[in-house]
Amino acid sequence: MRFHIITIFPDIFDSYLNESIIGRAIKNKLISVGFYNPRDFIKAPKNNYKPVDHKPYGGGPGMVMRAEPILKAVEAVFKKITNYELRITNKKNRKSKILIINFIPNAEKFTTTYAKTISKKYTDVVLICGRYEGIDARVDKILKTKKLSIGDYVLTGGEIPAMILVDCVSRQIEGVLGNYDSREEERVSSSEVYTRPEVLKYPFNSVQGKKSKNYKVPKVLLSGNHKDIEEWRKRDK
Ligand code: SAM
Repeated sequence: MRFHIITIFPDIFDSYLNESIIGRAIKNKLISVGFYNPRDFIKAPKNNYKPVDHKPYGGGPGMVMRAEPILKAVEAVFKKITNYELRITNKKNRKSKILIINFIPNAEKFTTTYAKTISKKYTDVVLICGRYEGIDARVDKILKTKKLSIGDYVLTGGEIPAMILVDCVSRQIEGVLGNYDSREEERVSSSEVYTRPEVLKYPFNSVQGKKSKNYKVPKVLLSGNHKDIEEWRKRDK
């Protein structure tokens, strides 16, 4: 799976993508993440200032991201994919399946079910990260983007939504998680989890005469009875 991220702030992704499970997936070439900065697709005028945004038609606060630099960035993605294809089609007649996503706060919600569909149906996912008031709507019309929201709240940009999607889709790809079947959606899991010690004393030291309390792991989890444990985990579903 190849992710192609269109963003004017590519550095935002550095620490998240280089750590832990996603970092390892990139190192092991199970996924790849490329960045395309719309600013790089604007011819610099004499003063070298490269505006990716402009005032909105119809008025209103905030700026709108211009269509041309984003469309050019997506064209660069297409070129890259064509080069990948040239390298692999000699051996097999493989065709890329491309999905282009534009993040919008009030669009259809992104879900694990949809992440699973993406991981099965597509080879390349292009993620357009909006900023300011959003992107000139003609980008959606021309590219026939899939519009997705990550929740009922408004963020300052599409970079966090893009990271969420990369993370959630990646864990659906075999080999990314140590054990593929350990994905929560494939088993009975609970958000109430425990590890050692069996009894946790807190506060660690008695404070002003107040004794520490013992916080115990629920007995059922120590029972070794898998059926009972599964029932207990199901109870908050
Ligand atoms: N004016 C836009 C509106 O009313 O829908 C909101 C723009 S928001 C400040 C800037 C960008 O952040 C959006 O273009 C989108 O890419 C991203 N964004 C913010 N909240 C989001 C959410 N809940 N889900 C997905 N993307 C979001």
